[in-house]
Amino acid sequence: MFELLKSDVATQARLGRLTTAHGVVETPVYMPVGTQASVKALDPRELEEVGTQILLGNTYHLYIRPGMEILEEAGGLHRFMNWAKPILTDSGGFQVFSLAKIRKIKAHGVEFRSHLDGSLLFLGPKEAMGIQRRLGSDIAMVFDDCPPHTASGKETKAAVERTMRWATECRQEPRAPGQLVFGIVQGGCDAALREHCAKAITGLQFDGYAIGGVSVGEPEPEMFKAVECTMPFLPVSQPRYAMGLGTPAQMVELVARGVDMFDCVLPTRVARNGTAITRKGAISLKGGAYKRDWGPIEAGCTCFACQRFTRAYLRHLLNVNEILGLRMVSVHNTHLFLQVMADTREHLRAGTFGEFRREFIANYVPTRRVLAARAAVDER
Ligand SMILES: [Zn+2]
Repeated sequence: MFELLKSDVATQARLGRLTTAHGVVETPVYMPVGTQASVKALDPRELEEVGTQILLGNTYHLYIRPGMEILEEAGGLHRFMNWAKPILTDSGGFQVFSLAKIRKIKAHGVEFRSHLDGSLLFLGPKEAMGIQRRLGSDIAMVFDDCPPHTASGKETKAAVERTMRWATECRQEPRAPGQLVFGIVQGGCDAALREHCAKAITGLQFDGYAIGGVSVGEPEPEMFKAVECTMPFLPVSQPRYAMGLGTPAQMVELVARGVDMFDCVLPTRVARNGTAITRKGAISLKGGAYKRDWGPIEAGCTCFACQRFTRAYLRHLLNVNEILGLRMVSVHNTHLFLQVMADTREHLRAGTFGEFRREFIANYVPTRRVLAARAAVDER
């Protein structure tokens, strides 16, 4: 299922290959986020063109709209959105705890009100696995309790206990044919809790492991700490996924710490504000500085937007709210995230990851605006 092709000598970085029911995924990999059965502003042809290997879908959102009856009638999520390659579905745990209005945590799940119409709903391990089975995703995530960064030590501990209990329940649920199931490790920035949770979750023998409870509003150093104190307890022979992360620079740094899989809404979210992400950091294309800029978003970029359009033209489109503007910035941003991971794989293969990492981090200037957007939750 997961083949470890090569390990970097100087860091924890690895080159791998994950085989799923809908095809092979080369890792490290960035997964574009298709929350509502669509990666915002991009169609499946564009997603393939920019090099997407695997997409994310979301249990909570699809369960609420259009609902499971429609998705089953469509023949599952792949057919519904006409995407033939692998899909990973989030379990809905994160959304129940961050989006749902009123919730009551019970022994076997969470009773909550829909953030849309207030209707009373229930999601637990059994329900989340059942929905993901019917969606037919290639990788299903266990239903977990993901507390916010501001949770107290006591709350984080309770969330870890619940996550462990629910993981045991998820493990016993039936799956779609060939579906892989990943466990999730919680524990905030508490090293002892992370270790405790990781040992329990890996003991259940899932197909891969995710680090949850990151990208929940914590400062960057704490995010790295949470990952670093979880990693030693995850089996080397299985894929490791950092949920909701990160910026291009964070992804490269997390690869160096042994992470294989990423998902992040940044490329499409910031595109809608007119922000393009480049290898030197983010630029706000709406600015007057680009009024007569006849170059592409990023020199040397092979994406469709950079091959065809100037910054001046895209700036104009964005300022007059033309859909093409945000579509093209979404194409460029998504391409960039995928390309950074493709470059990472190439350098791992060639044994030059260390130099690549140094150079990439030296060139990339993080912006506070982009880091802040990473932590927002409305799109996930
Ligand atoms: Zn481009």
